[in-house]
Amino acid sequence: MDNIGARITQLRADLPAEVRLVAISKYHPASCIREAHAAGQRIFGESRVQELVEKEAALHGADIEWHFIGHLQTNKVKQIAPFISLIHAVDSLRLLEEIDRQGARCGRTLRCLLQLHVAQEENKFGLTTDEARELLAQGRWKELRNVQLCGIMCMASNTDDTARIRADFREARRFFEEAKRNHFPTDENFRERSYGMSGDWRIALDEGSTMVRIGSAIFGPREY
Ligand SMILES: *Cc1c(COP(=O)(O)O)cnc(C)c1O
Repeated sequence: MDNIGARITQLRADLPAEVRLVAISKYHPASCIREAHAAGQRIFGESRVQELVEKEAALHGADIEWHFIGHLQTNKVKQIAPFISLIHAVDSLRLLEEIDRQGARCGRTLRCLLQLHVAQEENKFGLTTDEARELLAQGRWKELRNVQLCGIMCMASNTDDTARIRADFREARRFFEEAKRNHFPTDENFRERSYGMSGDWRIALDEGSTMVRIGSAIFGPREY
């Protein structure tokens, strides 16, 4: 625990200045977030709505940018809409529409990333590149005034095979470039590529990540 600040400082030194570090604090108490905050960390990511809402309340008023990185159920968007800075894992138009509705309710434009399913595992959430392509081509998202699409996120296959991990990130990168060209050529907001976790962030940087989501390498192992 004493090492949280040191790990943050080391990571910052290792990351290029333009890459954002999202400290994934899920399952760790607010005291750990305070420690990271004292070391200068400002962006924190959580994957469960209940836990995020409790921590936001505990740390209310602190200069923190909260990101939601988990699978988001439509009936829970309302709870995070008032304060969330970025929703990483949008995987359906229906969810995007609900985010728009809740953004409108609190007078905010909610920034979102499309979650791509590029990993080999069956059980991961996210849109295949074909589904994501279809969602963008269909065009309904353009009518959503309280949603801003800012890019894509993904998780690589859970494997030691670094070539596989690299290929997954590369697929996400290629999709991002295609989407940028076809739908956001002049939209500066569409620029984020959220990939890279504790075990694979160096590969993610090679493959063009703009935002890494690092949990255990900062806070230590999680107890489930
Ligand atoms: C937990 C989690 C992370 C962080 O994982 P670590 O391996 O602990 O760095 C990143 N992204 C998502 C979507 C997660 O659920």
